Order: sequence, then structure tokens, then C-alpha cells
Amino acid sequence: MQHLYDMRSSELAAWLESLGEPRYRGKQVFQWLYQRRVRSVAEMTNLPKALRQRLADQAVLATAREVTRQVSQVDGTVKFLLGWPDGVTVETVLMRHDYGNSVCVSTQVGCKMGCAFCASTLGGMIRQMTAGEMVEQLLASQRLLDATDERVSSVVLMGSGEPMDNYDQAMKFIDIIRDPDGLNIGQRHITLSTVGLVPGIVRLADEGRPITLAVSLHAPTDELRSALMPVNKAYPIAKLLEACQYYYRKTGKRISFEYALIGGKNDALEHARQLAELLRGLPCHVNLIPVNYVPERNFQRTPKAQVQAFLQELRRLGVNATVRREMGHDIAAACGQLRAEHAARPAP
Ligand code: SAH
Repeated sequence: MQHLYDMRSSELAAWLESLGEPRYRGKQVFQWLYQRRVRSVAEMTNLPKALRQRLADQAVLATAREVTRQVSQVDGTVKFLLGWPDGVTVETVLMRHDYGNSVCVSTQVGCKMGCAFCASTLGGMIRQMTAGEMVEQLLASQRLLDATDERVSSVVLMGSGEPMDNYDQAMKFIDIIRDPDGLNIGQRHITLSTVGLVPGIVRLADEGRPITLAVSLHAPTDELRSALMPVNKAYPIAKLLEACQYYYRKTGKRISFEYALIGGKNDALEHARQLAELLRGLPCHVNLIPVNYVPERNFQRTPKAQVQAFLQELRRLGVNATVRREMGHDIAAACGQLRAEHAARPAP
């Protein structure tokens, strides 16, 4: 079976050609999938009947089912838990901002990066998500928005998993969703967040997809960062920042750094000063995120006053920084928690 959501427009055209169809059918089918968002081949009414039959026999559209959905009463954030036939589940989140609707997509089931504060890595890496499965996550939100004639305006690859550890599928996903014949999400509105896999950053810089790069930094020294993020032993801060400089030079896009504030670990003013020193000369923006509580981890959140003090210290030293607004805190929208809750529940 061929998964239709798993192909770029050009790949769809080539596949249809291999079935003896004219190439332009690729664009037609692509538009049905992403502009009209049909749920079955039968609805693709400008295709000849014989072709529709053939596609119905040889291809599939949706493969995921919605396991659960939570809607925040506070800010309208919607968190979906999607499940696939092999039993895996991942979360995807729709966030409503004044400037538009953004969707957070998971790129792997679980994760093998081992960050000390993160829930997604607790059970290790289960398997990769295919590009088509990432597309299905986005469509879950877009279909909900279709009811009110709204659209997904931005996408962040910031759910479970490390996108640079699933590079080809992540890039295929990006190509599919930014295609003007489809969902047409502008590349300026696509953000990929990485734990800091340097070869992936360099490759992304070289390949000409100038999306926004977010780098999970979380600590200003190698000692501290290695304790929180094992990946730092392979790609220490100096190497990582060199790759970020390269990304900026190649794409002209400033880097976004994520810094989760963990009480008593990385949230002293001295850390803010070290961070400012580190980032001097690199066009960037720092996103401060009070760490989300993960029961298995027991890291404490930095108190609000200290978050503000940290922020002000960075700004005083000329660093562009903001505190990330929390979304959906009433529905445990924090990373991995819906999936974890579901797994902990006894089977019905
Ligand atoms: N693997 C990628 C993207 C997934 S995680 C990466 O590491 O960037 C998305 C962001 O959430 C990362 O910055 C990650 O470090 C952060 N994160 C993970 N667990 C968190 C927690 N408990 N509290 C706050 N941020 C967390």
C-alpha cells in the first residue's frame, strides 16, 4: 500500500506516472489531499473512475486515529493523542495565538537523546515517525480549524523526538507542508527545534530550506550542559555555536535558543551572565521556559521573581530574550504528559 500523505508533490507525480498516468495527475491528487482535504479517494471527482478505483485499491490516506483529545478552558489549546495500527501513540498540540494558529508536531515516538528534564525520553526511542505520519498530525488540527474557516499558520517540530535524528523524514514533511499547491505554510513560519546535532544543523544550512532553527541550549557551560543533556559530550557548546554561526551566515536567519530554567541548577544570575558572554556576536533570540514538572524527574521550577531577574540580566547585557508564554496549563499540555497518562491507565 502506498501512503499518499507520505509523498512530496513531485514524488506523487512520479508514482502516478509509474502507474501509467499522466504526470499532471500528481498535482491534482496533491491538491485534493491538502487544499480540499478530502478523506477518501472517492471524493477526488476530477479523476477518471478507473484511476479512483486503482488508487482506492493501492493507496491509503489516513492511518492514524484520535485516541483522546483535551481542550484547554483557559486558552483554547487543543492536545491530541493520535494512535497508529502498530500501537504507538504520539501527541500533537494546536495553540491559538493572536497572531495565528500554531501546531506542534512529534517527529519520533519516544526519543533516545536522554535529556535529564524531559518526559519523552523516559522510555527510550520506540520508532521514527514517517513524514506522512507528521502530516497526519498537522491535519488533525487543520481539520478542526476547517469548521471555523481558519488555518494553521505556523508549525513547530517540537513535540516528542529529535528531528535531526530523523532528518530525511522531517525534511520531507517540511517540503510537503510548505508546497504552494498544498497547505502552503511559509518557511518563515516553520521552526525546527534540535537538541544540537551539529551535522544536521550544517546540512540544513547547506540545503537551502531557510526555516527557523531553534536550539535547545539550557546551560551556559559544558559541565552543566553535559549533566543535563548527554548529547553535549558528542557536540560541546563551542562546536554547537560554531554550527549556529554557520547557519546564520548561510541563511541570514537569527537562531532561537531555548533555555529551560530549572530551580537551583541553571537559573542563577551568574548563569545569565555566562550565557550572554557565550552568545555575544551571534544574532539570536533566547526563549526562557520555566521547566515543566515531570514527576519522574523532580526538577523544580524557577520561581517567577527569579525568572524575571534572569530575563532582566540577559537584557541588560544586550541579549534579546523573552519568557515563553505557557499554553494550556490546565490540560497538562507539557511535553509527553498525555501520552504518559494514557500509557499508565489500565487497558479497558
Ligand atoms: N528534540 C528537540 C525537540 C523536542 S523538545 C529538542 O531537543 O529541541 C522541545 C523543547 O522542549 C526542547 O527545547 C526541550 O529541551 C524542551 N523540554 C523538554 N522537556 C522539558 C521540560 N520538562 N520543561 C521545559 N522544557 C522541556
